[in-house]
Amino acid sequence: MRLVLLGAPGSGKGTQGQRLAARSGAEHIATGDLLRAQVQQGTELGKQVAGYLDSGALVPDQVLLELAWPLVRAAARGAGYILDGYPRSVAQAIQFDRLAATEAPIESVFFLRVPRDELVARLLRRAAEQDRSDDTEEVILHRLRVFDSQTSPLVDYYRRAGLLTMIEAGAAADDVAAVLLAALPA
Ligand code: AMP
Repeated sequence: MRLVLLGAPGSGKGTQGQRLAARSGAEHIATGDLLRAQVQQGTELGKQVAGYLDSGALVPDQVLLELAWPLVRAAARGAGYILDGYPRSVAQAIQFDRLAATEAPIESVFFLRVPRDELVARLLRRAAEQDRSDDTEEVILHRLRVFDSQTSPLVDYYRRAGLLTMIEAGAAADDVAAVLLAALPA
């Protein structure tokens, strides 16, 4: 299984990615989690990227590629990968496709579509529950703008490639998981 979960912050990519991984044995590769781990561990890379995460801006493409590609390649040799949060722009998608074309090409992309007011409500709820430095209201709104301008063009990009399936993901996680499972490639 070689999947990309596409969706705005708060659309449930992490929740659904973990569930699919547990079920399929494929590797859930969540670039936001990987970057936050680097920041928490105080690595050189973590120091470089902390400012981007705090402000909700995108970390430079090359950093992402170097972080994600070795994991993707290794996963593709096993039960596959479920990408969550990457690619996040058309430039990243092109760069990824070039590299992955022979060893690890994407089979399907699921766009988790959630109404905007529900996204904001979810993100504010998560801000109250977790201690993420990028879950303040101002940064949340900025991350949604970054999604609109940089990530949402990927919907067309993957649609044109014949890889895209739309999933209505505003419902409860269990219901969305059932729809996703039914839509998975055989
Ligand atoms: P996430 O947990 O996926 O919402 O990601 C949290 C933050 O990590 C984002 O706001 C970005 O600063 C950074 N990030 C995660 N994935 C990427 C990516 N593919 N490209 C650039 N920045 C990323």
